Amino acid sequence: MSKLALYGGKPLLDYWPKELFHWPIVNDAMREAQLKVLESGNMSGTNISRQFEEKFAQWHGVKYALSHNNGTSALMSAMYGVGLGPGDEVICPSVTYWASCTSALTLGATIVFCDINEKDLQIDPASFEAHITPRTKAVIVVHYLSHPADMDAIMAIAKKHNIKVIEDVSHAQGGHYKGRMLGTIGDVAGMSLMTSKSFAIGEGGMMITNDPEIYRRAISLGHYDRMPEVFSPEELKDTNQLPYGGFKFRMHQVSSAIGLEQLKKYEAETAEVDQAMKYFWQGIKDIKGFRLIYPEDEGSDKAGWYASRAGYDPECFSGVSNEVFAKALNAEVGLVFFPGGNFPLHKSELFYTKDVFGHGKPTAKVHLPDGVDPRELTGELPVASKINGLLLGEPPFKKFDKKLIDIYVDAVYKVVENHQDLLRESKEEAGGNVALSRRKK
Ligand SMILES: *Cc1c(COP(=O)(O)O)cnc(C)c1O
Repeated sequence: MSKLALYGGKPLLDYWPKELFHWPIVNDAMREAQLKVLESGNMSGTNISRQFEEKFAQWHGVKYALSHNNGTSALMSAMYGVGLGPGDEVICPSVTYWASCTSALTLGATIVFCDINEKDLQIDPASFEAHITPRTKAVIVVHYLSHPADMDAIMAIAKKHNIKVIEDVSHAQGGHYKGRMLGTIGDVAGMSLMTSKSFAIGEGGMMITNDPEIYRRAISLGHYDRMPEVFSPEELKDTNQLPYGGFKFRMHQVSSAIGLEQLKKYEAETAEVDQAMKYFWQGIKDIKGFRLIYPEDEGSDKAGWYASRAGYDPECFSGVSNEVFAKALNAEVGLVFFPGGNFPLHKSELFYTKDVFGHGKPTAKVHLPDGVDPRELTGELPVASKINGLLLGEPPFKKFDKKLIDIYVDAVYKVVENHQDLLRESKEEAGGNVALSRRKK
């Protein structure tokens, strides 16, 4: 048994294999496309963005795609699109990136968090249903870490209670649920296309829907120049064609040009990611204490494997925490193993007591009836509260290079075999759990 690199042993890898993890993959077509926009004198136009929207909509088989400057604004448009407003509640799983839901506060709504399933890390349909009140207008379903949420169950509950479904596809572009593309199952979807995501175009976001009214409302929030296309002159008369939202959400055309090129190669690239990730998993699947988190339904997948996490059971490793375990792994092969997932949002006072806009009371309570407390609406969320200690990231392989991937498999075995040595490592020394969002941005 060779000594762990963490304690002075020889690391299994002594260089950074850039190609194995480099993302996005940039080709000549992308270089040329963005130069063309740069030289066209029309970087702030919409002609290229409209082409990107058309192809993006075709890819998903939906009527409308509306490009945005980022995913945060695409999601805000989706929320405004379904009519979310003052006094409404929107339900969101606690374990996600803040931008899944935080814009709801700006719209005057209250965010109510529900729990996730430990098994697949997705929104727990039973917890979603338990958080519904007469004021619930919408639910935000995040396909978290590329895994599709249980859409059949969610759609049935939403239908029963007349609730709009917004999908956040920022982690799962091109992914499927039982053969259907993610983002096409609910009423509307918003997604980020920023550089760290699987479908990477720089800064950008997309909203997709089949509902003309959602599309129209989204345009009126942040796309002033397009309002005459979806509103009659009569409708626009009293506001002189000004946008209702006071926002400008237009995508940069260099991003759109890159997006058009990404569309041509994205499925082939993510197929290779899939192959590489599955090969790595095959290598470690017999180790007790690790659990692959992958959809079991036929026709479901994890396109892109964005920031994928495996289940990690500290009990199987004499109580060694996922943070210490990851630290030992990273000492062997470089910084590719991350413990935990996103900070559970329901632990933040932003959603309970913070007065963001100077109303003289908590923003989350401004439009709620007296005596209704957002903290009580959310309540205890046991899985979201403990999940970060039970996850370990798989290295985000982008290339199917067996020989190199085998080294990462060996690293896992080496740390497993020597895990008793790690018992002396304290949590503090491991540097604590850094939120996924902070590492990614
Ligand atoms: C990245 C991300 C967003 C926000 O997208 P931006 O393009 O960064 O504005 C929203 N939701 C989730 C789940 C994300 O990971």
